[in-house]
Amino acid sequence: MTTKISLSPTGDPWLLTPGPLTTSPETKQAMLNDFGSRDHGFIEINRHMRERLVGIIGGEADFVCVPMQGSGTFAVEAMMGSLVPQDGKVLVLVNGAYGQRIAKICAYHGRATEILEWPENEPVDAGEVDRKLAADPAITHVVAVHCETTTGILNPIAAIADVVKVQGRRLLIDAMSAFGAIDLDANAVPFDAVVASSNKCLEGTPGMGYCIVRKETLQQCQGNSPSLALDLYDQWVAMEKTAQWRFTPPVQVIAAFNQALNEFDAEGGVAGRHARYAGNCKILIDGMRELGFVPLLPDDLQAPIIVTFLMPVDPNFHFQTFYDALRDKGYVIYPGKLTVAETFRIGCIGKLGPEQMHGALEAIETTLNELGVTNCAAAA
Ligand SMILES: *Cc1c(COP(=O)(O)O)cnc(C)c1O
Repeated sequence: MTTKISLSPTGDPWLLTPGPLTTSPETKQAMLNDFGSRDHGFIEINRHMRERLVGIIGGEADFVCVPMQGSGTFAVEAMMGSLVPQDGKVLVLVNGAYGQRIAKICAYHGRATEILEWPENEPVDAGEVDRKLAADPAITHVVAVHCETTTGILNPIAAIADVVKVQGRRLLIDAMSAFGAIDLDANAVPFDAVVASSNKCLEGTPGMGYCIVRKETLQQCQGNSPSLALDLYDQWVAMEKTAQWRFTPPVQVIAAFNQALNEFDAEGGVAGRHARYAGNCKILIDGMRELGFVPLLPDDLQAPIIVTFLMPVDPNFHFQTFYDALRDKGYVIYPGKLTVAETFRIGCIGKLGPEQMHGALEAIETTLNELGVTNCAAAA
């Protein structure tokens, strides 16, 4: 029996994961140069990158972009620590692991925190947020996750933003896995800050996050941060003054991100990227349903980012064996991390198109045959 092995142009497996993701050969190629942090060319790339990121939310008039070294969580922690004053009170909207992580960050910071929680397969309910805010006037900030990557569920960010605004509080958004692929227009949706990273839907390499903040808000944030390295206010002031980063910048990551942003523009920005990912997601869900798998979420709650499938009942299905067999064919998937059900996940984001999605489905079908799995339905 011949097993078809598919690899990326650089000989890597395709990453159908929540990140890091498959990047283009040109993006990887852009990392092959050294830059001094004071290098004129690098400073220009950095300035341009910050402007382009603000442009993605249409925030040119009121927002600034403050990049931060590290993975996405570093940027989330920087946002929470820098924008919420020590006497503030945070309401965290939780329907998955990333919301939980934000609540944990607030606990580390010793900030007064309230949590509103929904099951992982249900979206945040803006009506409940409204009632909670009305009942607790001490809450100053609300923090929401745009796409909860734990399941791939899309939260109703515009409805949440409306109630937060009407109640006169400030909204902070973790849009890590949505930014660049799901529209967020600062002129239509009121919020104070949004955070994302280089290595998700903008298809850069990992190593940098960024917070796009309302300038008027950031100007009031001196002295809030409990951390020196993660102080967004200080990072911003230094960058405005010197055009340089306070501490060693991830220069190759930024050079690669610049190339990834060129490709994002060439694809037609958010609309173009959304269209490709939505196509990937449809191919995936249709194909998996045909094989008998059951997605966790109904289609109307599903963001075209990552799809959660229920673990099949078939006794021949062992996730680790399935995972390894797919990896050997060139496709990397991801375990689930749900409390409501046994699941696994397959991503639709990164430099992937119809060919890779069909290829992954073919590899899955072959693997099921190899393992003797005949029933992919979920346990009742
Ligand atoms: C990926 C992601 C993060 C950041 O995770 P890191 O592993 O630190 O990059 C935060 N929030 C959401 C919703 C994410 O998808």
